[in-house]
Amino acid sequence: MCEVSRRKFLAGGTALLALAAEAELLGGPVPAGAAEAAAAELIAPDIYFHEGNVSDDADAVCNNGWIMFEDYVLVIDANFPAGARLMISKIRALTDKPIRFAFDTHHHGDHAYGNQVFVENGGVPVAHTGVIEEMRRYETGYYDSKPGRWEDSAKNRADLKTTKLKPPSVLFPQELIFDDGKHRVELIHLGLAHTHGDAVAWLPKEKILFTGDICVNGPYNYVGDGDVGQWIGTLDRTKQLGAQIVCTGHGARSVASVLDDQQAFFKALREQVGAVMAPKPPEEAKTQVELIRATLKGNAQIARFVGTPGAEDSFPPQVQKVYEELTGKSLAALGHERQLARQAHARSHGCASASPA
Ligand SMILES: [Zn+2]
Repeated sequence: MCEVSRRKFLAGGTALLALAAEAELLGGPVPAGAAEAAAAELIAPDIYFHEGNVSDDADAVCNNGWIMFEDYVLVIDANFPAGARLMISKIRALTDKPIRFAFDTHHHGDHAYGNQVFVENGGVPVAHTGVIEEMRRYETGYYDSKPGRWEDSAKNRADLKTTKLKPPSVLFPQELIFDDGKHRVELIHLGLAHTHGDAVAWLPKEKILFTGDICVNGPYNYVGDGDVGQWIGTLDRTKQLGAQIVCTGHGARSVASVLDDQQAFFKALREQVGAVMAPKPPEEAKTQVELIRATLKGNAQIARFVGTPGAEDSFPPQVQKVYEELTGKSLAALGHERQLARQAHARSHGCASASPA
């Protein structure tokens, strides 16, 4: 990219120029569908957000961010390998600074399977220590000889066939701080939520928060590896940071209220499952799922978090998980169709081999 267009981009910070820059960098015409992929957004000086696309065949599935420090770039989430390559091309169109760190907000494939790509480009994957504990639990193909989640995801994603799992190698038990005097980013573990290894990236000067999947903005909550009851408390601690701009793990960039909405969804889900399903034995409880869905859909604050019946329906497994948390009883399968739907959704998060939760 030539100096003039780079300066022009840095001054303007528009997605259109980023797209042109990327096409120039890659040495070809703007590819079809690039408009969606080009949406890297300058949200504050030196701080970028990129919205992913939750579908099986997307390159960049989770949302990303990156912060350009004086001497290096810190990337929020490694994405899948194809997403990692896409982010690197976008960052390279903006700066020659080394992409030194890739922070995995948690262990799921759409946030961490691109680690090896960052390593090959001079980066180091960074995460809360819980990410390693989760990887030891689920990535049995890497730590043992039994195929685990990576191997399962590789059946559906070509980009996993040409690379490998790379667990994070810089680990922090509670917090890790990046501060060069101009920018400050605090990586913080706030408690059990979406997984046992979640951490957020908090930028106290700009009041920007990258939440990972502790918070999503839409029907994207995968609850199989976490604890919905404790998640609500972790969201309380997340809200106390005082963020004004909230970049969630999936879905459109938002503001502080998305944390309230996500928490209200889980609270309402627990209330409804507790009132309607928990007093009933599993076989009877199962028949109440659509009733609960209709009730939650009727609440404007949280309706967007409630899945709709279909291939990517996230709602039945959420109900199932909460029922099991509240009663200690297994709800077993919520019907064959729903099992398939759950698997499809889980696969898009790199969790296809999750045991029914
Ligand atoms: Zn996740």
